[in-house]
Amino acid sequence: MLEGDRVNRIFFRFFVLVMLSITAATFVIYFAMSRLFGDPLDDIARRQSSAQIFLIEQYVDEAPADEWLVRLNRVREVSDTRFDLISLAAARAALPRASLRALERGEVVLDIGNKAFYRRVDLDGQRYIGSDEEVIHARDLPIDVNLALKMEAVRYVIVALALLVPVALWSRSHWQGLQKLSRVADEFGAGRLSARARMPPSASIYPLAERIDHMADRIEELLVSQKNLLHSVSHELRTPIARLEFALELLDAKAGDPALRRRIAAMEGDVRELNDLVNELLGMARLDSEQALRRETVDVASLLESAAASLPPGSQALSVASAQDLGTIEADPRLLGRALSNLLRNAQKYAAASIRLSAVREEGKLLIMVEDDGPGIPEAERERIFEPFYRLDRSRDRATGGFGLGLSIARKAVLLHGGSLSVEDSALGGAKFVIAL
Ligand code: ADP
Repeated sequence: MLEGDRVNRIFFRFFVLVMLSITAATFVIYFAMSRLFGDPLDDIARRQSSAQIFLIEQYVDEAPADEWLVRLNRVREVSDTRFDLISLAAARAALPRASLRALERGEVVLDIGNKAFYRRVDLDGQRYIGSDEEVIHARDLPIDVNLALKMEAVRYVIVALALLVPVALWSRSHWQGLQKLSRVADEFGAGRLSARARMPPSASIYPLAERIDHMADRIEELLVSQKNLLHSVSHELRTPIARLEFALELLDAKAGDPALRRRIAAMEGDVRELNDLVNELLGMARLDSEQALRRETVDVASLLESAAASLPPGSQALSVASAQDLGTIEADPRLLGRALSNLLRNAQKYAAASIRLSAVREEGKLLIMVEDDGPGIPEAERERIFEPFYRLDRSRDRATGGFGLGLSIARKAVLLHGGSLSVEDSALGGAKFVIAL
């Protein structure tokens, strides 16, 4: 709906723009035409009053000099048009400066607005005494340029529409193509690596779509091969680690020297750490290749309870709070439980005295929050901590153990559910991790 509104707004603006430019073009055409070929309105008005002009030029003017006035009077009697004789000075005062020249030359000068024309009686005063100082002023001529103007307007509107329709159709197809591309980019960005535009070659933005698809192919290939590499390396490391563990145990059994036994114990610790790392990595690789979730109906309250119960006992107080009846969600309880317990384990590592696990339903979303009163996470690091192997303060983290994979795994698990995991400040004073589903 919103998209539709935006499209309509863009089209409306486009329509207004086209109309404005057509109006501007109309004026330009009018002025260019009047410059080059004379005022078109003048032309129309002249045609409309051609009968009256004809009477003056071909009937009255053809009279012998002394009969000129008589003929004019005869015309006056039969015509609906009023023909008055006024002084040249009065005519000059009534006309705009641009038409004075034509009047002087003895031409018919139209006054369209007043449906009138002016013409000098003659140039040399031969018709009667002082005739060169008088002007025929014809009024109530059958001039009507409105109709002509309307016709002109209709013509331009039709041209505008004829222009607008193909342009609108053309840009609409463009627009839809772009929207499809941006949807594909969104999906791809959200992790659905198989998203492609796949436009027909006839589509207007086919070349762009094709390049983007090609790029997506390459990125997918690279990501898949990276995951495969991670998976195979971790997998291959398992066997030698197992052999090392076994060999160390044998060695330990044979060694009599206490110093050597201490060495061996330290080495066993290292090997154990290596083993943990490989297991974590394998877990992450598995999460990456997980496509379909094993969703089932999960009771939110009992999910929280069991996550809290799985936490090894620590010195801090853990409170589980839920404000309302939270109902159930469709989720993979194993994955979601994993994410929750990673967050709780972190909270336990960093909390000073208390940890709080809570959940609310807000605007159709289920929010699960894990808070602590530890040091919290600086603003600038709030995205980076979700990257694999990223840890904040090396010295602090070394003491707490961990490879920097916990949060990355938790986020992957939540993303697989179509949710989001973010971090902010807690009212307790430390970090507050929020799972939104
Ligand atoms: P690790 O396994 O090392 O804990 P994580 O991915 O779980 O790695 O966490 C990444 C980093 O984020 C941690 O090293 C730590 O610096 C920081 N962090 C995670 N949880 C908290 C928390 N509750 N309070 C403060 N810092 C935290």
